Amino acid sequence: MKRFVIKIGSNILASADKGLNTKRLKAIISDISSIIDGGHEIVIVSSGAIAAGLKKLGLKGKPQDIRLQQAAAAIGQSSLMWAYEHTFGRFDKKVAQVLLTRDDIANRLRYINAKNTLFTLMAYGVIPLTNENDPIAVDEIKFGDNDMLAALAASLVEADMLVILSDVNGLYSKDPKLKTAKLIKHVPEITPAIEKLAGGRGSAVGTGGMYSKLLAAKQATDHGIPVVIINGRKNGMLARLADGRSVGTYFEPVKERLSSKKGWIAYGVRSRGAIYLDDGAVDALIHKGKSLLPSGITKIEGQFKIGDYIRCLNNEGKKIAKGLTNYSSEDLDKIKGKKTSEIESALGFKYSDEVIHRDNLVVV
Ligand code: GLU
Repeated sequence: MKRFVIKIGSNILASADKGLNTKRLKAIISDISSIIDGGHEIVIVSSGAIAAGLKKLGLKGKPQDIRLQQAAAAIGQSSLMWAYEHTFGRFDKKVAQVLLTRDDIANRLRYINAKNTLFTLMAYGVIPLTNENDPIAVDEIKFGDNDMLAALAASLVEADMLVILSDVNGLYSKDPKLKTAKLIKHVPEITPAIEKLAGGRGSAVGTGGMYSKLLAAKQATDHGIPVVIINGRKNGMLARLADGRSVGTYFEPVKERLSSKKGWIAYGVRSRGAIYLDDGAVDALIHKGKSLLPSGITKIEGQFKIGDYIRCLNNEGKKIAKGLTNYSSEDLDKIKGKKTSEIESALGFKYSDEVIHRDNLVVV
């Protein structure tokens, strides 16, 4: 049994003028259904709410007005769910809706709640369908696009693979419209050169494009989850993938998989500030697997409390780790550069020797 998170974008499922493409949806659902019958678990991240809503409102393209976009999402989400529910029903399968915002993921308790719900649904053989809760999401709490939501969902449910459906066969060596463009079947690592291949971004109804798919793929592979980008407009691709055959572009994950908690620290929670470290501390974190002590801290940036997540930067300002701080920014300013034995005399109290304990720290 494998657990797949499948991301289905707006431009596969819908267009602003025609609304939902029910024929395509049926073809995709038929494919997904056969994978489930083969014994696998599926979580779907589906866009298409805004596009479906625009059609119902009689609007031709995505409006500039955010409130109208959010209204369209609210109107379209029910159509989207109904289409999934109805079509999966024809294959004797049940679906459930879980709408998320970035804030839900950033909050540890809500993150765990969402995880528990998703696992319970899967245990009952119900297919969870997630989307961003667009009607209530403002910029600061938005994922931005569903590719990112899919990467987070993949780590949330500890997926064996993230599958992103695209309107092309995968990642190409150049613009896929060019005759000389070649499909890249295997990407061992998403380097800046690979990112460059992704070119422009966005479509009329979605916000993604190949670039955002690559960013999501980077996040998931960094977490230790393999990613495949396949053509969502061709039938049978998902079934071939589940059979273990090569389709689309495969992105190799890093060797060491992050635990769900460390994945959440790295990508779920947002940081409240940063600290600069000297070379010794950077080395201790990256190569020696140590906790962070106050002696290696050179500078504090921003204001944060005990229990906030902060970024650890090297002396050039490059992020090297993220973790939960046992001291506030104010306290850290007083103990930075000091030995652990000096913490108590500097502050008048001591919570712990470590500023960030190893268990609460992720090297990035
Ligand atoms: N959540 C949006 C929708 O359902 C789309 C976001 C995206 O394009 O990725 O329409």
